[in-house]
Amino acid sequence: MDVSVLGTGYVGLVTGAGLAEKGHNVTCYDIIKEKIEDIERGVSPIYERGLDVIIKRNIGDKLNTSMDLKSTINDSSITFICVGTPSNRDGSINLKYMNNACREIGEVLKNKKQYHLVVVKSTVVPGTTEQKIIPRLKQSTEKKVYRDWGIVMNPEFLREGVAVEDFLNPDRIIIGANDRRSSDMLSRLYEDFNCPVLRVDIKTAEMIKYSSNAFLATKISYINEVGNICKKLGINVYDVAKGMALDHRISDSFLAAGLGFGGSCLPKDVKALIHRSGELNIKLDLLDSVIKVNEKQAYRMLELARKKTGPLKNKKIALLGAAFKPGTDDIRESPVHALIKKLHEEKAKVVVYDPQANGNMKKEYGKKISYALSADDALLDAELALIVTAWREFELLDFSLMKEPVVVDGRNIIKNKKNIIYEGLCW
Ligand code: NAD
Repeated sequence: MDVSVLGTGYVGLVTGAGLAEKGHNVTCYDIIKEKIEDIERGVSPIYERGLDVIIKRNIGDKLNTSMDLKSTINDSSITFICVGTPSNRDGSINLKYMNNACREIGEVLKNKKQYHLVVVKSTVVPGTTEQKIIPRLKQSTEKKVYRDWGIVMNPEFLREGVAVEDFLNPDRIIIGANDRRSSDMLSRLYEDFNCPVLRVDIKTAEMIKYSSNAFLATKISYINEVGNICKKLGINVYDVAKGMALDHRISDSFLAAGLGFGGSCLPKDVKALIHRSGELNIKLDLLDSVIKVNEKQAYRMLELARKKTGPLKNKKIALLGAAFKPGTDDIRESPVHALIKKLHEEKAKVVVYDPQANGNMKKEYGKKISYALSADDALLDAELALIVTAWREFELLDFSLMKEPVVVDGRNIIKNKKNIIYEGLCW
């Protein structure tokens, strides 16, 4: 099928390249010229394992790029909206990119003769597609929804770091539609995917996304609380988690105690669900606590550090890792930000090293912190190392380069504990 994708970020580019890999004709459109130029050259603008390979394999053939929205939409029959839906200060989702995308798509559809399907892949709180997106599209298309154009809410569940694998082999596909034609058309696009396909209405699809992410976040905060008690009791929470996970009702995923969750999804989505519930006068006590527990972990890490090294003022502190998890260069809502904020307040000297995210850190912090070219470089003469991201290359580091070999491990990743003062966050 002929598909266009608006937004070539983590979701849009993986969706576009993934659908091209499955044999569809895909055109990716973005408002950022540099991203489009990178993709055109067969280079992924983001770090994501395997993405370069499928871009290179399909570019110029099944996968194309464009900065001309009119032809992009006119030459396709399905348009995926994959623009960002970041948090506002109050936790609600910010729809500025979505609103622009709807207006721009609508203006093209206004003059398009053939039926067109719009697919909302961006994460939007329950009710948004029906109450905001459809009215906006209606306004600019001046055409009848479900007759001249259709709409589906199709949430994405990929995990950064293994996004390509997840997109091509998903656990499930959720098709949220209020009419049969839209739902059937998107089902045809996914014919080649070997997984359960659940057809629901639009707002149920939106809710499935939020309740899934809120549940995963809850698992992490839960195991972090268990970990915090375990540490006091001298119990290894990882052994506890292993024992719990043998129960198939629990499973072992999202049970790694440590610095907590980050990224562009879990914190934002939990906060957005809390905010949406607030609008309905429902207080989500459990999810409020999930956020609080998560935010406390970074402070706990520094508390443990202070106990080992004393005041942090003027100390060189190596932050190993910045991405919110290994396998990605994404630093959005990473615990690294809370650590840096606090370390700056305490007037410590911060040097950071991340195998993929140094570039994004430089864009965010400029000269406010230092950047190391390697983990060794970061550790040289440092008085404290904080393990922020579970990159495999940190497992066997040589801490003898440090002035004081004090290591607080936020991810239970350090294997070489010889001759160091080691402290695990919850173990
Ligand atoms: P992102 O910020 O990486 O990418 C968004 C892209 O949209 C950017 O390249 C931006 O330039 C582009 N854009 C903005 N306005 C545009 C417009 N009018 N036309 C064309 N392009 C436009 O965001 P992301 O991480 O890919 O997330 C996108 C959505 O998917 C969000 O709603 C997010 O919550 C959801 N989601 C993200 C993930 C994830 O792991 N990142 C997983 C599932 C769902």
